[in-house]
Amino acid sequence: MKRQVSVGDILIGGGAKISIQSMTNTDTANVEKTVAQIKELERAGCDIVRMTVNTIQASEAVRQIVDRTTVPLVADVHFDYKLAIKAMENGIAKIRFNPGNIGEEKNVRLISDCAKAHNVPIRVGVNSGSIEKDLQEKYGRTAKALVESALRHVSILEKVGFYNTVISVKASSPQKTVEAYRLLDKSCDYPLHIGVTEAGQDDEGIYKSVAALGSLLMDGIGDTIRVSLTGDPVQEVVVARKLLRAVGVDKNFVDVISCPTCGRCALDLSNIVREIKDKTKDIRIPLKIAVMGCVVNGIGEAGDCDFGIAGGKDKSALFVGGQVVRTIDNVDIVSEILKLCGERTKNG
Ligand code: SF4
Repeated sequence: MKRQVSVGDILIGGGAKISIQSMTNTDTANVEKTVAQIKELERAGCDIVRMTVNTIQASEAVRQIVDRTTVPLVADVHFDYKLAIKAMENGIAKIRFNPGNIGEEKNVRLISDCAKAHNVPIRVGVNSGSIEKDLQEKYGRTAKALVESALRHVSILEKVGFYNTVISVKASSPQKTVEAYRLLDKSCDYPLHIGVTEAGQDDEGIYKSVAALGSLLMDGIGDTIRVSLTGDPVQEVVVARKLLRAVGVDKNFVDVISCPTCGRCALDLSNIVREIKDKTKDIRIPLKIAVMGCVVNGIGEAGDCDFGIAGGKDKSALFVGGQVVRTIDNVDIVSEILKLCGERTKNG
């Protein structure tokens, strides 16, 4: 079990629910735009939002942004420790910062003391593009180099007595990312923020993230996740939520399973599935619904579902708890399923 840190009211590690993170792409000094994007991310299901704090103006904007939002916020700071301190004084809940990049130990102490005073954790985040030269020469841009680099930054914090740390080791290659996190997981008990860096845009980025993060999560590795995609960060949150559902981490939703259809299917299964998915998307209890194209394989395949249908030409078999309970007209499939969902939601 990993250590646990608190980012505002969100816990990371120590058996806490795996949280979803994303990052704004507005100019942080533009308070209006940044607040609007943070709220959009929160509505999409984001638990923790990071923003760049790259200027004095951005560090000063933190106060207003914190006051106008409810989700815990993280300041992403590079090189300038004074910006990290200012962000903490202005109410930021977490810092992403690599202490090896600020030189003197006294500056690390200043950050560490401030973080302790405000109970702010620090994420040490190494990417394949930011590995130190000596480690690159020793190991190349490998998973081993990523892990050594991260642990080197972490040891600088440990030297000044700071342990409220989260670590990430992201590569743009899913394979290297998985290898690095597996190694890191064995090397320390700090909670891990997992992600693929520079994964890309749309489908390419989604597949890379899902391959790497899905693989890690199914091995029990990862305490908080970020899907990095070029474009609107809300998409990152949508993908992350679906990923947590697909790997069984989030069970509080309606899982609509459906067959691929074949020549035996005599009804418009695709549109029926789409409609059921759309109309049940806001239900937050664990429910499994099977929508199968025929009775031949449908009932058996859907045996472990709460309820569903096995389709026929004009009528379909409705089943509950794996048993056929009656036959219904195909035009009533969606309404019958929704009625069952409603009853189950009411009964918890
Ligand atoms: S459930 Fe029936 S329709 Fe669907 S793929 Fe299987 S055999 Fe074909």
